[in-house]
Amino acid sequence: MNAIGLLGYTNSLMKKIYLDHNATTPLHPEVREAMLPFMGDLFGNPSSGHWAGREVAHRIAEARESAARLIGADPEEIVFTSGGTESDNWAILGALRDRPGSHIITSSVEHPAVFNACQEMETAGHELTVVDVDRYGQVSPEAIRGAIRENTALITVMLANNETGTINPIREISTIARERGILMHTDAVQAVGKVPLDVRELDVDILSASGHKFNAPKGIGFQYVRNGVELKPLIVGGHQERGMRSGTENVIGIAGLGKACEVAMRDMPGKDRDIRALRDKLEKGLRDAVPETEVNGHPTERIYNTLNISFKYIEGEALLSMMELEGIAVSTGSACSAGSTEPSRILKAMKLDPLCSRGAIRFSLGLGTTEDDIERCLRFIPPIALRFQEMSPFSGK
Ligand code: PLP
Repeated sequence: MNAIGLLGYTNSLMKKIYLDHNATTPLHPEVREAMLPFMGDLFGNPSSGHWAGREVAHRIAEARESAARLIGADPEEIVFTSGGTESDNWAILGALRDRPGSHIITSSVEHPAVFNACQEMETAGHELTVVDVDRYGQVSPEAIRGAIRENTALITVMLANNETGTINPIREISTIARERGILMHTDAVQAVGKVPLDVRELDVDILSASGHKFNAPKGIGFQYVRNGVELKPLIVGGHQERGMRSGTENVIGIAGLGKACEVAMRDMPGKDRDIRALRDKLEKGLRDAVPETEVNGHPTERIYNTLNISFKYIEGEALLSMMELEGIAVSTGSACSAGSTEPSRILKAMKLDPLCSRGAIRFSLGLGTTEDDIERCLRFIPPIALRFQEMSPFSGK
Protein backbone atom coordinates (compact mmCIF):
# COMPACT_ATOMS: atom_id res chain seq x y z
CA MET A 1 0.00 0.00 0.00
CA ASN A 2 1.45 3.43 -0.91
CA ALA A 3 1.55 6.39 1.53
CA ILE A 4 -1.73 7.91 0.33
CA GLY A 5 -3.45 4.55 0.44
CA LEU A 6 -2.14 4.00 3.96
CA LEU A 7 -3.40 7.43 5.06
CA GLY A 8 -6.85 6.66 3.67
CA TYR A 9 -6.80 3.30 5.43
CA THR A 10 -5.79 4.72 8.84
CA ASN A 11 -8.34 7.54 8.40
CA SER A 12 -11.09 5.02 7.86
CA LEU A 13 -10.13 3.26 11.12
CA MET A 14 -9.99 6.45 13.13
CA LYS A 15 -12.99 7.69 15.06
CA LYS A 16 -14.17 10.89 13.44
CA ILE A 17 -14.73 13.90 15.69
CA TYR A 18 -17.45 16.37 14.73
CA LEU A 19 -17.09 19.81 16.33
CA ASP A 20 -19.01 21.91 13.81
CA HIS A 21 -22.50 21.91 15.32
CA ASN A 22 -23.03 25.61 14.47
CA ALA A 23 -22.82 24.62 10.79
CA THR A 24 -25.29 21.79 11.20
CA THR A 25 -26.16 19.05 13.69
CA PRO A 26 -26.81 15.31 13.39
CA LEU A 27 -30.42 14.14 13.60
CA HIS A 28 -31.45 13.14 17.11
CA PRO A 29 -32.46 9.43 17.09
CA GLU A 30 -35.87 10.35 18.54
CA VAL A 31 -36.32 12.89 15.74
CA ARG A 32 -35.56 10.27 13.10
CA GLU A 33 -38.02 7.91 14.78
CA ALA A 34 -40.75 10.59 14.78
CA MET A 35 -40.26 11.19 11.06
CA LEU A 36 -40.46 7.56 9.91
CA PRO A 37 -44.28 7.19 9.87
CA PHE A 38 -44.47 10.13 7.44
CA MET A 39 -42.35 8.15 4.99
CA GLY A 40 -44.92 5.36 5.20
CA ASP A 41 -48.60 5.39 6.10
CA LEU A 42 -48.84 9.06 6.99
CA PHE A 43 -48.48 10.31 3.43
CA GLY A 44 -51.67 12.38 3.15
CA ASN A 45 -51.86 16.02 2.15
CA PRO A 46 -52.78 17.96 5.31
CA SER A 47 -55.12 20.16 3.25
CA SER A 48 -57.25 17.14 2.26
CA GLY A 49 -60.52 16.81 4.21
CA HIS A 50 -60.47 12.98 4.19
CA TRP A 51 -58.91 10.55 6.67
CA ALA A 52 -55.48 10.56 5.01
CA GLY A 53 -55.16 14.33 5.29
CA ARG A 54 -56.84 14.81 8.67
CA GLU A 55 -54.37 12.67 10.62
CA VAL A 56 -51.40 14.50 9.07
CA ALA A 57 -53.00 17.91 9.76
CA HIS A 58 -53.41 16.82 13.38
CA ARG A 59 -49.71 15.91 13.62
CA ILE A 60 -48.73 19.30 12.16
CA ALA A 61 -50.84 21.01 14.81
CA GLU A 62 -48.98 19.04 17.50
CA ALA A 63 -45.60 20.05 16.06
CA ARG A 64 -46.73 23.69 16.01
CA GLU A 65 -47.65 23.44 19.70
CA SER A 66 -44.20 22.01 20.51
CA ALA A 67 -42.45 24.81 18.63
CA ALA A 68 -44.63 27.42 20.36
CA ARG A 69 -43.93 25.89 23.80
CA LEU A 70 -40.17 25.99 23.19
CA ILE A 71 -40.19 29.79 22.77
CA GLY A 72 -43.18 30.79 24.91
CA ALA A 73 -45.43 31.68 21.95
CA ASP A 74 -49.01 30.80 21.01
CA PRO A 75 -49.30 28.08 18.33
CA GLU A 76 -50.97 30.50 15.88
CA GLU A 77 -47.85 32.68 16.07
CA ILE A 78 -45.69 29.91 14.53
CA VAL A 79 -45.31 29.61 10.73
CA PHE A 80 -43.27 26.74 9.32
CA THR A 81 -40.71 27.71 6.68
CA SER A 82 -37.84 26.03 4.84
CA GLY A 83 -35.31 27.19 7.44
CA GLY A 84 -33.29 30.10 8.72
CA THR A 85 -32.55 31.78 5.41
CA GLU A 86 -36.19 31.88 4.33
CA SER A 87 -37.32 33.07 7.75
CA ASP A 88 -34.72 35.86 7.85
CA ASN A 89 -35.42 36.93 4.27
CA TRP A 90 -39.16 36.91 4.90
CA ALA A 91 -38.84 39.01 8.08
CA ILE A 92 -37.02 41.75 6.18
CA LEU A 93 -38.74 41.68 2.80
CA GLY A 94 -42.18 41.07 4.31
CA ALA A 95 -41.87 43.86 6.87
CA LEU A 96 -40.81 46.45 4.29
CA ARG A 97 -43.04 45.45 1.37
CA ASP A 98 -45.56 48.27 1.94
CA ARG A 99 -43.10 50.83 3.27
CA PRO A 100 -41.13 52.17 0.30
CA GLY A 101 -38.13 54.32 1.15
CA SER A 102 -38.15 53.33 4.82
CA HIS A 103 -35.07 52.84 6.97
CA ILE A 104 -33.61 49.57 8.34
CA ILE A 105 -31.11 49.17 11.17
CA THR A 106 -28.97 46.07 11.42
CA SER A 107 -25.56 45.08 12.80
CA SER A 108 -22.22 44.37 11.14
CA VAL A 109 -22.12 40.76 12.42
CA GLU A 110 -25.38 39.41 10.98
CA HIS A 111 -25.49 36.15 9.04
CA PRO A 112 -25.64 36.65 5.24
CA ALA A 113 -29.32 35.59 5.36
CA VAL A 114 -30.00 38.92 7.09
CA PHE A 115 -27.06 41.00 5.89
CA ASN A 116 -27.57 40.34 2.19
CA ALA A 117 -31.34 40.75 2.46
CA CYS A 118 -30.80 44.19 4.03
CA GLN A 119 -28.39 45.12 1.25
CA GLU A 120 -30.94 43.97 -1.36
CA MET A 121 -33.48 46.27 0.25
CA GLU A 122 -31.01 49.15 0.10
CA THR A 123 -30.51 48.49 -3.62
CA ALA A 124 -34.29 48.52 -3.99
CA GLY A 125 -34.47 52.06 -2.53
CA HIS A 126 -34.62 51.62 1.25
CA GLU A 127 -32.15 53.29 3.59
CA LEU A 128 -29.81 51.07 5.61
CA THR A 129 -27.70 51.68 8.71
CA VAL A 130 -25.24 48.97 9.74
CA VAL A 131 -24.34 49.47 13.40
CA ASP A 132 -20.81 48.54 14.54
CA VAL A 133 -20.14 46.04 17.32
CA ASP A 134 -17.62 46.14 20.18
CA ARG A 135 -14.52 43.94 20.39
CA TYR A 136 -16.62 41.05 21.71
CA GLY A 137 -18.93 41.29 18.71
CA GLN A 138 -21.79 42.65 20.80
CA VAL A 139 -24.29 45.25 19.60
CA SER A 140 -24.89 48.17 21.94
CA PRO A 141 -28.53 49.19 22.51
CA GLU A 142 -27.38 52.82 22.67
CA ALA A 143 -25.81 52.53 19.21
CA ILE A 144 -29.18 51.25 17.94
CA ARG A 145 -30.99 54.14 19.64
CA GLY A 146 -28.57 56.60 18.03
CA ALA A 147 -29.21 55.17 14.56
CA ILE A 148 -33.01 55.60 14.68
CA ARG A 149 -34.49 58.03 12.16
CA GLU A 150 -38.01 59.35 11.58
CA ASN A 151 -38.58 56.71 8.90
CA THR A 152 -37.02 53.68 10.66
CA ALA A 153 -39.38 50.76 10.03
CA LEU A 154 -37.33 47.73 11.11
CA ILE A 155 -34.54 46.82 13.50
CA THR A 156 -32.99 43.40 12.89
CA VAL A 157 -30.27 42.14 15.27
CA MET A 158 -29.25 38.52 15.79
CA LEU A 159 -29.69 36.83 19.15
CA ALA A 160 -26.50 34.74 19.06
CA ASN A 161 -23.69 34.93 16.55
CA ASN A 162 -22.87 31.80 14.55
CA GLU A 163 -19.09 32.37 14.48
CA THR A 164 -18.39 33.55 18.03
CA GLY A 165 -21.51 32.56 19.97
CA THR A 166 -21.78 36.11 21.38
CA ILE A 167 -25.28 36.84 22.69
CA ASN A 168 -26.82 40.26 22.09
CA PRO A 169 -28.95 42.25 24.57
CA ILE A 170 -32.11 41.72 22.53
CA ARG A 171 -34.53 42.64 25.32
CA GLU A 172 -32.90 46.06 25.71
CA ILE A 173 -32.93 46.65 21.96
CA SER A 174 -36.57 45.60 21.60
CA THR A 175 -37.53 47.96 24.45
CA ILE A 176 -36.08 50.82 22.40
CA ALA A 177 -37.88 49.58 19.28
CA ARG A 178 -41.18 49.35 21.18
CA GLU A 179 -40.83 52.91 22.58
CA ARG A 180 -40.42 54.21 19.03
CA GLY A 181 -43.07 51.98 17.42
CA ILE A 182 -40.50 50.19 15.23
CA LEU A 183 -40.77 46.51 14.22
CA MET A 184 -38.16 44.30 15.87
CA HIS A 185 -36.81 41.09 14.30
CA THR A 186 -34.19 38.77 15.72
CA ASP A 187 -32.36 35.97 13.93
CA ALA A 188 -32.37 33.38 16.72
CA VAL A 189 -31.14 30.50 14.54
CA GLN A 190 -28.12 29.80 16.79
CA ALA A 191 -30.09 30.13 20.02
CA VAL A 192 -33.42 28.32 19.57
CA GLY A 193 -33.16 24.79 20.97
CA LYS A 194 -29.88 25.55 22.71
CA VAL A 195 -30.79 28.15 25.35
CA PRO A 196 -34.08 28.86 27.15
CA LEU A 197 -35.90 31.55 25.30
CA ASP A 198 -39.22 33.35 25.79
CA VAL A 199 -40.55 35.65 23.10
CA ARG A 200 -42.73 37.52 25.60
CA GLU A 201 -39.68 38.32 27.71
CA LEU A 202 -37.62 39.22 24.66
CA ASP A 203 -40.58 41.32 23.45
CA VAL A 204 -39.67 40.88 19.76
CA ASP A 205 -42.18 41.04 16.89
CA ILE A 206 -40.55 38.45 14.64
CA LEU A 207 -38.08 35.67 15.48
CA SER A 208 -36.44 33.23 13.05
CA ALA A 209 -35.40 29.64 13.79
CA SER A 210 -33.91 26.72 11.86
CA GLY A 211 -34.36 23.01 12.61
CA HIS A 212 -30.97 21.70 11.51
CA LYS A 213 -29.17 23.74 14.16
CA PHE A 214 -30.82 21.70 16.90
CA ASN A 215 -30.94 18.11 15.68
CA ALA A 216 -33.94 18.35 13.34
CA PRO A 217 -33.47 17.84 9.59
CA LYS A 218 -32.25 20.45 7.12
CA GLY A 219 -34.81 22.39 5.09
CA ILE A 220 -37.27 23.06 7.90
CA GLY A 221 -37.56 26.00 10.27
CA PHE A 222 -40.09 28.41 11.60
CA GLN A 223 -40.94 32.03 12.03
CA TYR A 224 -42.54 33.47 15.14
CA VAL A 225 -44.81 36.33 14.11
CA ARG A 226 -46.33 38.09 17.13
CA ASN A 227 -50.13 38.23 17.09
CA GLY A 228 -51.18 41.49 15.45
CA VAL A 229 -47.96 41.97 13.46
CA GLU A 230 -48.65 42.16 9.76
CA LEU A 231 -45.95 40.42 7.76
CA LYS A 232 -46.62 40.21 4.03
CA PRO A 233 -46.06 36.67 2.69
CA LEU A 234 -43.08 35.98 0.45
CA ILE A 235 -44.60 32.84 -1.03
CA VAL A 236 -48.20 32.94 -2.20
CA GLY A 237 -50.36 30.12 -3.50
CA GLY A 238 -52.77 27.72 -1.82
CA HIS A 239 -53.07 29.59 1.51
CA GLN A 240 -51.31 26.98 3.64
CA GLU A 241 -50.02 28.22 7.01
CA ARG A 242 -53.04 30.57 7.14
CA GLY A 243 -51.91 32.28 3.96
CA MET A 244 -48.58 33.34 5.50
CA ARG A 245 -46.51 30.71 3.68
CA SER A 246 -48.13 28.79 0.86
CA GLY A 247 -47.04 25.45 -0.53
CA THR A 248 -47.90 21.91 0.56
CA GLU A 249 -46.21 21.50 3.92
CA ASN A 250 -42.89 19.71 4.41
CA VAL A 251 -44.67 17.22 6.62
CA ILE A 252 -41.66 14.98 7.29
CA GLY A 253 -39.57 17.97 8.27
CA ILE A 254 -42.32 19.46 10.43
CA ALA A 255 -42.73 16.16 12.31
CA GLY A 256 -38.96 16.09 12.93
CA LEU A 257 -38.89 19.72 14.01
CA GLY A 258 -41.75 19.20 16.46
CA LYS A 259 -39.93 16.29 18.09
CA ALA A 260 -36.64 18.25 18.15
CA CYS A 261 -38.42 21.05 20.03
CA GLU A 262 -39.70 18.57 22.65
CA VAL A 263 -36.28 16.94 23.02
CA ALA A 264 -34.58 20.35 23.28
CA MET A 265 -36.91 21.46 26.09
CA ARG A 266 -36.33 18.23 27.98
CA ASP A 267 -32.54 18.02 27.50
CA MET A 268 -31.53 21.68 27.60
CA PRO A 269 -30.47 21.94 31.27
CA GLY A 270 -28.24 18.85 31.09
CA LYS A 271 -26.77 19.90 27.75
CA ASP A 272 -25.97 23.35 29.05
CA ARG A 273 -24.08 21.79 31.97
CA ASP A 274 -22.28 18.99 30.10
CA ILE A 275 -21.45 20.72 26.82
CA ARG A 276 -20.37 23.89 28.65
CA ALA A 277 -17.96 21.82 30.79
CA LEU A 278 -16.45 20.21 27.67
CA ARG A 279 -16.20 23.56 25.86
CA ASP A 280 -14.50 25.14 28.89
CA LYS A 281 -12.07 22.23 29.16
CA LEU A 282 -11.14 22.63 25.49
CA GLU A 283 -10.76 26.40 25.90
CA LYS A 284 -8.55 26.13 28.98
CA GLY A 285 -6.47 23.28 27.54
CA LEU A 286 -5.72 25.16 24.32
CA ARG A 287 -4.97 28.44 26.10
CA ASP A 288 -2.64 26.75 28.57
CA ALA A 289 -0.75 24.82 25.91
CA VAL A 290 -0.37 27.38 23.12
CA PRO A 291 0.98 30.88 23.79
CA GLU A 292 -0.67 33.95 22.24
CA THR A 293 -4.14 32.51 21.90
CA GLU A 294 -7.21 34.74 22.12
CA VAL A 295 -10.83 33.73 22.57
CA ASN A 296 -12.99 35.67 20.12
CA GLY A 297 -16.41 36.58 21.43
CA HIS A 298 -17.86 37.63 24.74
CA PRO A 299 -16.21 36.08 27.82
CA THR A 300 -19.55 35.33 29.51
CA GLU A 301 -22.43 36.34 27.20
CA ARG A 302 -21.68 33.48 24.82
CA ILE A 303 -23.58 30.35 23.78
CA TYR A 304 -22.20 27.46 25.85
CA ASN A 305 -21.32 25.25 22.88
CA THR A 306 -19.10 27.68 20.96
CA LEU A 307 -15.38 28.39 21.16
CA ASN A 308 -13.85 30.68 18.55
CA ILE A 309 -10.15 30.82 19.27
CA SER A 310 -7.24 32.51 17.49
CA PHE A 311 -3.75 31.12 17.45
CA LYS A 312 -1.65 34.16 16.63
CA TYR A 313 0.62 34.00 13.54
CA ILE A 314 -1.11 30.87 12.21
CA GLU A 315 -3.25 30.43 9.11
CA GLY A 316 -6.44 28.84 10.42
CA GLU A 317 -6.89 27.03 7.10
CA ALA A 318 -3.49 25.28 7.50
CA LEU A 319 -4.38 24.05 10.97
CA LEU A 320 -7.84 23.07 9.74
CA SER A 321 -6.26 20.88 7.01
CA MET A 322 -4.14 19.05 9.59
CA MET A 323 -7.19 18.50 11.78
CA GLU A 324 -9.10 17.23 8.77
CA LEU A 325 -6.39 14.57 8.25
CA GLU A 326 -6.90 13.55 11.89
CA GLY A 327 -10.65 13.25 11.29
CA ILE A 328 -11.54 16.36 13.33
CA ALA A 329 -14.20 18.53 11.67
CA VAL A 330 -14.18 22.19 12.71
CA SER A 331 -14.48 25.44 10.80
CA THR A 332 -12.53 28.66 10.35
CA GLY A 333 -15.56 30.88 9.96
CA SER A 334 -19.12 30.55 8.84
CA ALA A 335 -19.73 27.45 6.72
CA CYS A 336 -20.67 29.71 3.83
CA SER A 337 -17.16 31.17 3.68
CA ALA A 338 -15.29 27.89 4.11
CA GLY A 339 -12.34 27.63 1.76
CA SER A 340 -11.81 31.38 1.73
CA THR A 341 -8.56 32.56 3.34
CA GLU A 342 -9.87 36.12 3.81
CA PRO A 343 -10.33 36.88 7.51
CA SER A 344 -14.01 36.50 8.33
CA ARG A 345 -16.30 39.54 7.99
CA ILE A 346 -17.42 39.01 11.57
CA LEU A 347 -13.91 39.01 13.05
CA LYS A 348 -13.05 42.05 10.89
CA ALA A 349 -16.12 43.83 12.26
CA MET A 350 -14.79 43.07 15.78
CA LYS A 351 -11.55 44.81 14.67
CA LEU A 352 -9.36 41.85 15.49
CA ASP A 353 -5.66 42.08 14.70
CA PRO A 354 -5.37 40.35 11.24
CA LEU A 355 -2.53 38.20 12.63
CA CYS A 356 -5.16 36.81 15.01
CA SER A 357 -8.22 36.66 12.77
CA ARG A 358 -6.37 34.57 10.15
CA GLY A 359 -5.65 31.96 12.80
CA ALA A 360 -9.21 31.70 14.11
CA ILE A 361 -10.83 28.30 14.47
CA ARG A 362 -14.45 27.77 15.47
CA PHE A 363 -15.20 24.74 17.59
CA SER A 364 -18.90 24.12 18.15
CA LEU A 365 -19.90 21.19 20.34
CA GLY A 366 -23.19 19.35 20.59
CA LEU A 367 -25.04 16.04 20.65
CA GLY A 368 -22.48 13.20 20.74
CA THR A 369 -19.44 15.26 21.78
CA THR A 370 -17.47 13.28 24.38
CA GLU A 371 -14.70 13.87 26.89
CA ASP A 372 -12.57 11.62 24.68
CA ASP A 373 -13.08 13.90 21.68
CA ILE A 374 -11.88 16.90 23.66
CA GLU A 375 -8.89 15.03 25.05
CA ARG A 376 -7.86 13.90 21.58
CA CYS A 377 -8.09 17.51 20.36
CA LEU A 378 -5.95 18.63 23.28
CA ARG A 379 -3.31 16.01 22.45
CA PHE A 380 -3.34 16.70 18.72
CA ILE A 381 -3.72 20.47 18.24
CA PRO A 382 -1.15 22.15 20.55
CA PRO A 383 2.03 20.53 19.09
CA ILE A 384 0.93 21.46 15.57
CA ALA A 385 -0.08 25.00 16.54
CA LEU A 386 3.27 25.50 18.29
CA ARG A 387 5.15 24.19 15.25
CA PHE A 388 3.22 26.53 12.91
CA GLN A 389 3.91 29.47 15.23
CA GLU A 390 7.65 28.66 15.20
CA MET A 391 7.64 28.53 11.40
CA SER A 392 5.79 31.84 11.00
CA PRO A 393 7.89 34.74 9.66
CA PHE A 394 5.84 37.08 11.91
CA SER A 395 6.24 35.34 15.23
CA GLY A 396 9.76 36.67 15.97
CA LYS A 397 10.89 33.32 17.34
N1 PLP B 1 -28.81 32.68 10.66
C1 PLP B 1 -27.77 32.16 11.36
C2 PLP B 1 -27.27 32.90 12.57
C3 PLP B 1 -27.17 30.98 10.96
O1 PLP B 1 -26.15 30.48 11.65
C4 PLP B 1 -27.68 30.32 9.79
C5 PLP B 1 -27.03 29.08 9.30
O2 PLP B 1 -25.83 28.94 9.38
C6 PLP B 1 -28.78 30.88 9.12
C7 PLP B 1 -29.30 32.05 9.59
C8 PLP B 1 -29.36 30.21 7.91
O3 PLP B 1 -30.11 29.09 8.29
P1 PLP B 1 -30.44 27.90 7.25
O4 PLP B 1 -29.18 27.13 7.05
O5 PLP B 1 -31.50 27.10 7.94
O6 PLP B 1 -30.94 28.53 6.02
